[in-house]
Amino acid sequence: MTKITATQNLDDIITRVEGARLKISEHHIVKIIGISKYSEAKDVETLYNVGQRAFGENKVQDLKSKSEALEELPIEWHFVGTLQKNKINNLIDLRPTLVQSIDSIELAQELNKKLEAKNKKMSILLQINSAREDTKSGVMPEDAIEVYKQILATCPNLRLKGVMSIGAHVEDEKIIKESFKTTKKIYDELSPLGAVYCSMGMSSDYELAIACGSNMIRVGSTLFKD
Ligand SMILES: *Cc1c(COP(=O)(O)O)cnc(C)c1O
Repeated sequence: MTKITATQNLDDIITRVEGARLKISEHHIVKIIGISKYSEAKDVETLYNVGQRAFGENKVQDLKSKSEALEELPIEWHFVGTLQKNKINNLIDLRPTLVQSIDSIELAQELNKKLEAKNKKMSILLQINSAREDTKSGVMPEDAIEVYKQILATCPNLRLKGVMSIGAHVEDEKIIKESFKTTKKIYDELSPLGAVYCSMGMSSDYELAIACGSNMIRVGSTLFKD
């Protein structure tokens, strides 16, 4: 990816995010996470050089190789993929800024136990399967509040910061919107308990997600396109 392309891609996203967030409020701030899973470290660096600071990966091994390759840059790294139990220690050692994909109480407690052993803490989001799709991870919407409270009560080494969801994988915008509204409603109920991030919206649906109240979007293909 050239510097010109990176600038255009990022400017386009920023312009659209601005349009969408200002319809809600001047004070509705949206954080943009560049999902670099299909791209090389040098493309991350190119985007960093035109102003993007937060990136995310969905495999622990890729997070390790890219974050180490770009170690000297003050990049904020997120983890957004399925976390296998045998990769937990590796992930902890990489000290990601935010792990967005904690999708069960069992995983949260396992992670908490390993953090305790290393005397470390980690910021996380609870992933919600708001579209109720078999192919997606996450707790069911009706269980989300209870699981969130259980994590708060039993996992002192986790800093629970909100929720993450992937929009419904369909063409019908109404159905996608419903899945975002479901996540937002849960987020609103959790904000008295300290939830500050409602992470939803990807390349194809981030404007809609922001209209539904998202304050963190995860864009991969549209940010890294050639
Ligand atoms: C890949 C991925 C994204 C980015 O997807 P794009 O459609 O390429 O923007 C966002 N969130 C998660 C959890 C992902 O795995």
